[in-house]
Amino acid sequence: MTVSRLKPFGETIFAEMSALAVKHQAINLGQGFPDADGPSSMLDAACAAINGGRNQYPPGLGVPELRTAVAAHQARHYGLHYDPDTEVLITVGATEAIAGAVVGLVEPGSEVVLIEPYYDSYAATVAMAGAVRRTVPMVADGDGFRLDRTRLAEAFGPKTTAIIVNSPHNPTGTVLGTDDLQAIADLCIEHDVIVIADEVYEHLLFDGRTHTSIATLPGMRERTVRISSAAKTFNCTGWKVGWLSGPPELVVGARSAKQFMSFVGSGPFQPAVAHALNHEMDWVAESAASLQRKRDLISGALAEAGFVVHRSEATYFVCADPRPLGYDDAATLCRELPAKIGVAAVPISAFVDDPQPWRHLVRFAFAKNDESLIEGARRLARL
Ligand SMILES: *Cc1c(COP(=O)(O)O)cnc(C)c1O
Repeated sequence: MTVSRLKPFGETIFAEMSALAVKHQAINLGQGFPDADGPSSMLDAACAAINGGRNQYPPGLGVPELRTAVAAHQARHYGLHYDPDTEVLITVGATEAIAGAVVGLVEPGSEVVLIEPYYDSYAATVAMAGAVRRTVPMVADGDGFRLDRTRLAEAFGPKTTAIIVNSPHNPTGTVLGTDDLQAIADLCIEHDVIVIADEVYEHLLFDGRTHTSIATLPGMRERTVRISSAAKTFNCTGWKVGWLSGPPELVVGARSAKQFMSFVGSGPFQPAVAHALNHEMDWVAESAASLQRKRDLISGALAEAGFVVHRSEATYFVCADPRPLGYDDAATLCRELPAKIGVAAVPISAFVDDPQPWRHLVRFAFAKNDESLIEGARRLARL
């Protein structure tokens, strides 16, 4: 009975792989959420909010202390100044921020550029808005990835309204270079296009890299909806506290849609996330350092097992190429892995419109406890 515009988004490969992982008691390196809790003072703040009676609808824009904390955080880290009363909106996770921005700012029939591979909610959200997606592939560059800038320029036309840019990038772990960000910015200014910037991994960069928000490039603040979330920064994916910031006219558009999606959400978790943004950034730095060690552990194990391992510069993810092991179809390999060696992973083809250039690549998630990773590495060695 599903409506035609949502039919293509019915069954996800994530559900299939997680079911296989359960069935075969596999180490699940497919799912992209951490298995450790966030900072304890943040958990305490949430309990205090619940016990302190903050259990009713929060204000439509989000609780003032979180909007203030979000604005202060962006001023501190990026020199981006947003008015917490008119330029910040708290959402039910980054997912709702993306949906609110797309549904509230993109006209039906107009085009949204996506960079492929892309996070699965983007295409579904564009379809819900009745808009059309134009995908631009990333391309392999040494052991990493970069944008295909020729294809990027070709994707912009008179109908283009928005581009969704995700850096640091899930699923490849790529941090887009400032040259790639500038190329996007130049096209957006030339064609009067807005950027929906999904920056949920803004703090999880490795090897001394630092995050650049596309909103900081000249001429971009006024056309960028910057989106982030507590989920990945503070290991609380179940709380669904996200936010967007941008100029008032873009925030108003996103809010028009958001207020009729959920109205509001995550009441007692909002003050807890405000506390974490104000007081727990050292915890986040340690979390990123720990993820870097986990990346090294799993990347080493994959290389040892015979995969060609791509460079993961950030996020929870690393991509690996199993062709030296005799597998040129990652989806087939991922369906076999749980039964064969007791490890689950997801094929990158789950994140693309055109699977051909990606069909060999597998995504492994490493935001797992060390015992699971070490056991996963031991099992991978059996391949
Ligand atoms: C996890 C993730 C999200 C969703 O964030 P929530 O705050 O849980 O809604 C959005 N974008 C990317 C790239 C992600 O990896």
